[in-house]
Amino acid sequence: RHFQDMKLPEPILKYLKEKNIEKPSPIQIQGLPVALTGRDMIGIAFTGSGKTLTFSLPLVMFALEAEVRLPLSQGEGPIGMIICPSRELARQTFDGLNDMAHALTKGGDYPELRSLLCIGGINMRDQQDAFQKGIHMVVATPGRLMDLLNKKKFNLDNCKFLCMDEADRMIDMGFEEDVRNIMSYFKSQRQTLLFSATMPKKIQDFALSALVKPMVVNV
Ligand code: AMP
Repeated sequence: RHFQDMKLPEPILKYLKEKNIEKPSPIQIQGLPVALTGRDMIGIAFTGSGKTLTFSLPLVMFALEAEVRLPLSQGEGPIGMIICPSRELARQTFDGLNDMAHALTKGGDYPELRSLLCIGGINMRDQQDAFQKGIHMVVATPGRLMDLLNKKKFNLDNCKFLCMDEADRMIDMGFEEDVRNIMSYFKSQRQTLLFSATMPKKIQDFALSALVKPMVVNV
């Protein structure tokens, strides 16, 4: 399989090429078609497998399609979100996501997508201001996200895409309650992706309660 077979916009194909990402990795071959059709998915994959692209690309495509259909107004959004166990991982994921979104917009053929990094240690005022402008995508750690949601600084009323990365680490670090709490803020039906390096019973049970008829991709 090739990226060219996946019905991706030309700027995305060009972007992948520029990043020397020529051939999809096994998780991408199996996972991208599932995630791009809007199904829930459990991806069992380690760092280095190419998992980040397997959820970032579908999120960008989802945000793009939504923006083309109905542009965000001020104060609206996010429409998609990635939750990570650590600030460091969130930052890396955010950089990649932003990079891809900018590559798409650069030629002027596609609308601008705004994203926000929502982690502790960053000025909360700036994060609130960003939400006021209307943002498409958020990459967050559970603590700061819960904080902002509880303080009603923004909402997940229009959020229809959720990815949980490194879910095993997230649960091990004691974030299960926060994540469940975050999920209770979703108002509409959503697509949920969950990635984990390991799949002990605890994570399986969590995944089955959070996802609907997920496809399991194990590489
Ligand atoms: P990840 O497993 O998502 O942390 O990705 C690990 C690294 O591999 C990142 O630096 C990606 O840019 C890179 N990468 C992702 N997919 C591919 C691919 N299909 N071919 C080559 N490199 C890739």
